[in-house]
Amino acid sequence: MPDAVARARSLADELLFPAAGAVDAAGVVPGGHLDALADAGLYGLTGPVDAGGLGADAATVAAVVEALAAGDLATTFVWLQHLGVVGAVADGPAGLRAEFLRDLCAGRRRGGVALQAATRPGPAAVGVHRDGDDLVLDGLVPWVTGWGYVDVLLVAARDLDDDVCFVLVDAVAGPTLAATPQPMVAVTASATVELALRAHRVPADRLVHTVPLTELRAGDAAGLRINGSLALGVLARCARLLGPSPLDGDLAAVRTRLDTAGPGDLPAARAAASALAHRATGLLVAITGSRAVVAGAHAERLAREALFLLVFGSRPAIRQALVAELGG
Ligand SMILES: Cc1cc2nc3c(=O)[nH]c(=O)nc-3n(C[C@H](O)[C@H](O)[C@H](O)COP(=O)(O)OP(=O)(O)OC[C@H]3O[C@@H](n4cnc5c(N)ncnc54)[C@H](O)[C@@H]3O)c2cc1C
Repeated sequence: MPDAVARARSLADELLFPAAGAVDAAGVVPGGHLDALADAGLYGLTGPVDAGGLGADAATVAAVVEALAAGDLATTFVWLQHLGVVGAVADGPAGLRAEFLRDLCAGRRRGGVALQAATRPGPAAVGVHRDGDDLVLDGLVPWVTGWGYVDVLLVAARDLDDDVCFVLVDAVAGPTLAATPQPMVAVTASATVELALRAHRVPADRLVHTVPLTELRAGDAAGLRINGSLALGVLARCARLLGPSPLDGDLAAVRTRLDTAGPGDLPAARAAASALAHRATGLLVAITGSRAVVAGAHAERLAREALFLLVFGSRPAIRQALVAELGG
């Protein structure tokens, strides 16, 4: 087993899971949790080795996300956003790489992403234009995770040519950048906000890269695997709480399906993982009995997390497959 997976498993068992109920009740991820992930090298999991990262392959990344999510989904969810920033900066301009990459891999600087408002179908909810030496960002991003835990945000915004610009924005509120908490019933500690950008200026050298919208959409399905590991983590925790049961085989089957799916099959594989997490948490509630509905019970927290996993990171094809799985 790669070292990173072993470290993630022991962090999950010794630190994250024992505190998961308290994190959920407080609605705050302790700074110490994120520091522990940084100390274990996991903020640099996908970063290049020459910048202090672990250069992990896709299978290792999936196993680490699953292990951590089995410990505490909210902490894992906050940390997971950071990997998207590391990947973008690693492939970005030399100046940004030099300024940010080593710190990002070490977790000295932490990142989040605000992507979907510019990439989902329909008119862009976030636009960008150049004005002198600045990029000017305008729009609303409905879901941005990690506010207050991150130093920078990778914001996607569309220009007039329908190219998607990825811009590194300091995560600091001000007259042109406002964050409003999303009132959620699950992963509340993830500090997910709605972000409003009103003529928000960023130096033009913060442009990480630009991709035509059509190209981005064509490549989107290939990137759907990793969020499936969040559902696998919730499933793994349910399986451990239940003890040996048919769920063990079902979990192995959805994991294999995710691992072997190509872009065409990934939406259905993601839907199967989310549907199984929903069913497994229901099973855990039923087997636990009335104590499952007492606030703070593992079963009720996991059931709320499974609810979140029915919608998070979805795509039209995932939703369609999920609705069919659930009998719609
Ligand atoms: C708690 C929570 C936290 C989240 N945190 C973040 C975050 O930190 N950063 C972030 O960027 N997003 C975040 N999201 C957004 C997440 O990616 C959306 O849940 C996902 O896009 C689907 O949401 P939706 O079904 O409400 O559709 P919407 O996001 O409203 O999109 C409308 C439709 O477009 C589809 N769609 C969305 N994106 C694409 C795409 N790239 N290509 C093709 N179709 C697409 C959706 O499936 C949906 O059918 C978060 C969501 C939740 C619930």
